[in-house]
Amino acid sequence: MDLKIGVIGTGGIGRDHIRRLTDVVTGAKVVAVSDINVDTAKKVAQKYGAKFYESGEDVIHSNEVDAVVITSWDPTHAGYVLECIKTGKYVFCEKPLATTAKECEDIIKAETKFGKRLVQVGFMRRFDRGYRALKNIIESGKIGNPLMIHACHRNLTHIPSHTTDMTITNSGIHEIDISHWLLGEDYESGQVLTVKQNRDSSDKLLDPQIMLLKTKSGVRIDVEVNMSSGYGYDIQCEVVGEKGTIRLPDPNTVLVRYNCQRSYEIYEDWSQRFIEAYDTEFQEWVNSVKNDKLAGPSSWDGYIACVTADALIKSRNQGKAETINVGEQPKFYK
Ligand code: NAP
Repeated sequence: MDLKIGVIGTGGIGRDHIRRLTDVVTGAKVVAVSDINVDTAKKVAQKYGAKFYESGEDVIHSNEVDAVVITSWDPTHAGYVLECIKTGKYVFCEKPLATTAKECEDIIKAETKFGKRLVQVGFMRRFDRGYRALKNIIESGKIGNPLMIHACHRNLTHIPSHTTDMTITNSGIHEIDISHWLLGEDYESGQVLTVKQNRDSSDKLLDPQIMLLKTKSGVRIDVEVNMSSGYGYDIQCEVVGEKGTIRLPDPNTVLVRYNCQRSYEIYEDWSQRFIEAYDTEFQEWVNSVKNDKLAGPSSWDGYIACVTADALIKSRNQGKAETINVGEQPKFYK
């Protein structure tokens, strides 16, 4: 039987996930949608044969909904996740889990009290074929102990309301999670540096920024987070080990020989670059919900990312590295 899903937030990624859950993923059906932008939500509901609900809370409490997907604005995530936990429904929440560490702690407390993992966070890179291959090689021991990661996250451009902090909490957060997942160890400290600025940066948006992280065993990670690359959406990652290096493959696009040039396409945004990762992420989520056992990124992972982002922002404001302390991983999340 299909898993009946309610989606809160029918903006860019909400609509893409509804298409994916309808056309690509098997075993699921979107039956309910809601968005503060009522016109869009009603159109989406009509297009997919789902029911429109006035509020996110109505979706969560509907008897017709088995599980919930949250794709609304960042500041709304924590409230909806907590409401889902109250009803005992599985919930997939797009990143970030919350905008403050305190809200993540509240979610962890509520989920632990409920007694079963219900929350999965949308860190889709963990489902990308390239990143999974990197992790397999690291874990095989082939390149010895990882010593450094050099990475970059370049967007073609950004929305006008994008701010300096969002570069860390909204974009850089993927880098925080993926390096933590690849290395399988916690961070000890972090710092953000600013460099010579892009021409369209301002007081509101410092761009680019460099995130520096150090793990407890001393692995160093440097990430260029650049919101206005001017040429495309480009994600790079190289892991340097004791005996070799491994690099994330570029997307498999066609080599064009034309007009005395040889070229590959570089995608414009995340929806193209990680399309397969999102598909895999949702298929695995639906399967695990049906099997009553979640395996994807947890509330604890959402918390680590949030605490790390907070420390990075503080470091930029204070001009020195900040300690990152998430404490012991609770048994519940091991
Ligand atoms: P978006 O296009 O702005 O969509 C967000 C939608 O949520 C808008 O329709 C917005 O309505 C609506 N909304 C705002 N407050 C709401 C509320 N209280 N209840 C219900 N809906 C509400 O943004 P997006 O790009 O789709 O991003 C949505 C979320 O997905 C964000 O948290 C973002 O961080 C995450 N995301 C993740 C990835 C990834 O790679 N995993 C990629 C992109 C986005 P209005 O437009 O009327 O304000």
